[in-house]
Amino acid sequence: MKTKSKQTFCVHEGQKPDEYRGINTPVYTSTSYGYLDTEERLYPRYFNIPNQKVLIDKLSKLENAESGLIFSSGMAAISTTLLSLLNKDDHIIFQKGLYGGTIHFFKEDFNRFGIQYTMLTSNSTDSITNAIRDNTRVIYIETPSNPLLSIVDLDEISRICRSANILSVIDNTFASPINQNPIDHGIDIILHSGTKYLGGHSDISAGAVLSRQDLIRRIQETSMNLGGSLNALMCHLLERSLKTLAIRVAKQNENAQRIAAFLSTASNVVKVYYPGLAGHEGHEIAKRQMTGFGGMLSFEIKRPELYDFQKRLELIKPAMSLGGVESTICAPSFTSHRHLTKEQKASDGINDNLLRLSVGIEDAEDIIFDLENAMK
Ligand code: PLP
Repeated sequence: MKTKSKQTFCVHEGQKPDEYRGINTPVYTSTSYGYLDTEERLYPRYFNIPNQKVLIDKLSKLENAESGLIFSSGMAAISTTLLSLLNKDDHIIFQKGLYGGTIHFFKEDFNRFGIQYTMLTSNSTDSITNAIRDNTRVIYIETPSNPLLSIVDLDEISRICRSANILSVIDNTFASPINQNPIDHGIDIILHSGTKYLGGHSDISAGAVLSRQDLIRRIQETSMNLGGSLNALMCHLLERSLKTLAIRVAKQNENAQRIAAFLSTASNVVKVYYPGLAGHEGHEIAKRQMTGFGGMLSFEIKRPELYDFQKRLELIKPAMSLGGVESTICAPSFTSHRHLTKEQKASDGINDNLLRLSVGIEDAEDIIFDLENAMK
């Protein structure tokens, strides 16, 4: 195909032909495939059935990756990838400020496997380089991060990792492949919760890892043992969702920028976190490494009380998860980050009056009206 636009890749890339000339990829529901006269052994848990391959091709194209694997959730992709890269007595560095489920995973499970970790209390270059040990194998980042939209410099992380022979892994869920392509900045492995922007309609649980062939082969070995693959019907739904990813995200970027500007002037709002705002700490870096600032933003309110504010909303749904076409809101301290200790929440800046807004594709003015009305 001559064209190089992400919008076009979203619609067409990876599609498999239909022998009846239907224009969509057929859904191959088989879990049992013939093995005579062929070297290929197809099986859903081997991560190689046709509907999985469509997604791998499409997402690889969108992320400039060589290959990938499709999982049944974002956490399946994250946990399997880390368990395949780390051995007993290896060390991993986690940036300050991550999705709560990821923190919960390494805090609960890494000790049992003898994997050492450092969770940074600052993401400065000095803090990262000082945390590196002889046995450090991976630096793990998430930018923009959940829920405070912290920005980490991808070029800097990749430079540090390359000079110390360490693998860099990013959770690129918040940006989506439309707004940020970490491989172009030298990052080795990209993770996505497909449950968010890739699915985009709050009805699919999925995950993905994208990288070079050699690393994907290594991760695939462990993936086949842990078994977190995605079934063909869900792959089909995800392929359909990805066709509109670029236009959904473009609208969400535009809406979020307008809503962030509104919130910055609202008298009941103490602080707004959105990398598209000139006052955001990571704005200059975000401008360099992102082509859009995303549909996620967070803010702290003075009044009304959090519960009352959410109950008063008529359009925006108080709900967990994010990245759907509908605007949703939640309080991270009581949802995605509820497992963190009080001290950890305080040190990460996850205050009890913090709200995380996942901006949908509705009319921006309607969303703003809803927020304004609930604040009165
Ligand atoms: N990464 C980020 C940034 C998330 O926000 C989430 C879920 O909220 C995950 C990973 C985990 O994804 P899943 O719920 O699909 O397992």
